[in-house]
Amino acid sequence: MSTGPSLDIAERLRSGGTWRGTLPLAAFERLAATVARGGDVEVAVRFEPDDLARARVAGTCGMRAEVVCARCGSDVDVFVEAAVDFRLVASEAQAQALMPELETVVAAEDRVSVVALVEDDLLLSLPEAGCDDRDRCENWCENRADQRPEDATAAQARRESPFAVLGNWKPRERGD
Ligand SMILES: [Zn+2]
Repeated sequence: MSTGPSLDIAERLRSGGTWRGTLPLAAFERLAATVARGGDVEVAVRFEPDDLARARVAGTCGMRAEVVCARCGSDVDVFVEAAVDFRLVASEAQAQALMPELETVVAAEDRVSVVALVEDDLLLSLPEAGCDDRDRCENWCENRADQRPEDATAAQARRESPFAVLGNWKPRERGD
C-alpha cells in the first residue's frame, strides 16, 4: 500500500490550480526499493478536465537519488525528473479503452494518492547507467542519447547503417 497524501479528484478538478508537495522517498514503496538512497520527492501537478471532460493530470516530479551505474558499478548521484500527463480513469477497462493514445492511471475511488500519480513515471525515468562523466565511468559509451548530444550527421549515419553503432562501441579519447 502506498502512503502519503491523497487528493479528492472531483475537488481538484473543480478548484483547478497546481497541487505542490514534497513526499519522503519512504512513501514510495517500489521507488524506495529501487534506488539506493534518495531525497524527498517534489511533486507539482494540476488536475483539469480535458475537452471530453475526462480528468487530466499533468505536471512534474523530481528527486535527487543515488543509483548504481550499470556500466561501472559505482554509486552516482543523479537528479531524476519526470513529466506526467495522463487521464485518471475509474477502471482497468476504461484504461484499456484509452490506451495507447493516452496514458492512464486507475483511481477506483474518489481520491487518488499522490504516490500513485507519480511513482510509475519516476521509476521509468531512473537512468540505467548513472554516470554522466566519461572520466569517471570506465565503461563510458558515446552512443547513448542521454549522455551527450550528437551531431545530426552521426545520427543520420547510424540510421543508415544498423552496424555503424558497433563502430562507436569502444570508449573514445577526450577531444575527438
Ligand atoms: Zn559508470
